[in-house]
Amino acid sequence: MIQQFDMLIEGKLKPALSGKYFDAVNPSNGEVFARMADADTVDVQTAVSAARLGFDHGRWPQMGLAERGVYLLKIASLIRENAKELADLECASTGKTIKHTTFIDVPSAAETFEYFGHLSGSLISETVKNSSPVLSVVEREPVGVVVTIIPWNYPLIMTAWKLAPALLAGNCVVLKPSPVACASVMLLAKLAIQAGLPKGVLNIITSSRPQAGQELVSSPEVDMVSFTGSSKTGEAVMALASKGVKKLTLELGGKSPNIVFADCDMEAAIGGALSAIFMNQGQMCTAGSRLLVEDKIYQVFIDKLAARAKDLKIGPADSFETEFGPLVSVEHRDHVLKFIEKGRQEGAKLVLGGRIPEGNLKGAYLEPTIFTNVRNTMHIAQEEIFGPVLCVLPFTSADEAVHIANDTKYGLAAMVWSQDLEKANKVARRLRCGTVWINTYGAFLNEVPFGGYKQSGFGRELGLSGFWEYTQIKHIATDQTPGGKPLVCSWF
Ligand code: NAD
Repeated sequence: MIQQFDMLIEGKLKPALSGKYFDAVNPSNGEVFARMADADTVDVQTAVSAARLGFDHGRWPQMGLAERGVYLLKIASLIRENAKELADLECASTGKTIKHTTFIDVPSAAETFEYFGHLSGSLISETVKNSSPVLSVVEREPVGVVVTIIPWNYPLIMTAWKLAPALLAGNCVVLKPSPVACASVMLLAKLAIQAGLPKGVLNIITSSRPQAGQELVSSPEVDMVSFTGSSKTGEAVMALASKGVKKLTLELGGKSPNIVFADCDMEAAIGGALSAIFMNQGQMCTAGSRLLVEDKIYQVFIDKLAARAKDLKIGPADSFETEFGPLVSVEHRDHVLKFIEKGRQEGAKLVLGGRIPEGNLKGAYLEPTIFTNVRNTMHIAQEEIFGPVLCVLPFTSADEAVHIANDTKYGLAAMVWSQDLEKANKVARRLRCGTVWINTYGAFLNEVPFGGYKQSGFGRELGLSGFWEYTQIKHIATDQTPGGKPLVCSWF
């Protein structure tokens, strides 16, 4: 049965004013599984105005942190109660395996709401000692109306990363998921209503129009934009947000190096390298898409890696047997195929995959793909492919590995594999990126900030740093000089 999803505007589920819907397609079989309300300009404006009203006249910004935290905890428990439906929708929308959506996406989203829901109220006000008779209280206040825009690869997790801290800080929010994958987010919208969020505090719109994001970012009623997506769109968002001097955070693309030293635990490093590029079919901002292997183990490492990748079970994402599902859409699969062709033309050697799998699979499938003979100047080594395409490069020394790793416009994440932890830590400190995983991949922790250097963006998600992004700082200075004659401001 095809489900229909409306938008969350002014505290209620509402269709677009035009009554239009657009199709949500399951990339595992190419079939329409849901219809999403299709917002026009007028719906975007209504959502923003609802948030503005909620912030300027509602009680939400005045509530204490603990009171707002209770709503986040309610949302978390509703996510857990509706885990199966959410995991199914996330799987149908994105093509991510049901194993992934069941054991990673849904519980992680709940945990993020729980982490922020439990943050202590003592965080937002502190008395700062100083050398004058002025009592200085520094407070964190909400920014106001926050527009949050997310990509299609992790709809539920990205939603949680943005909504939980933004709402906890007292902002009123308009969220726009990607039209490519948004059904699970609209189920979350229903749960937010059940949790009793006051009217206007959270608005979620869906739209097939590319202009919807631009309209949100350029609205004069908006105070802050928190954007996650590609670096190209991030540049456009930054230009638009400059109008009205909006606060901005950008979480953008990556071309993350995965550095494997000869003294690594080889089985662990192979497992890490596989996960880093083939989990979610490589559609991860932190994909370890450039594998740098020390020359002493280069050939044996590639042979073992390719053998393991060849064995990955490709199939429909909704089977618990499947290890490698489809890409998010046929359009995106074809975009990735163009990169593969470009790699061939540039002289890289295809050692695995590169084709649409044979058989009766109907959907956006592509084989796990590995290129060797890659130079770091090649297009496939420099551009974010956002698919299951691994570029392998050899290195002979730590200096050379660091040079190749940093020779990119991106700076999101990196991995280092070595049993010499002193060496691995030295290398980690020389890498120009926001996260380095040593002897592991993909440790995203609610307590710890995540974000990019260089064209991977600025600002942080998660942790206290992620919370502070959604606040602004006020200093309240009270003169306490005895006798009423102010000492500090006594110029005249
Ligand atoms: P995208 O940039 O095409 O779109 C992201 C979002 O922006 C979507 O909701 C889209 O509808 C909206 N959008 C498009 N044009 C816009 C405009 N001009 N103004 C405002 N909004 C606009 O990215 P995508 O294809 O959905 O996602 C893949 C990208 O996201 C990759 O580059 C990936 O690395 C990145 N990503 C980054 C992180 C991170 O935390 N750094 C996490 C996940 C994904």
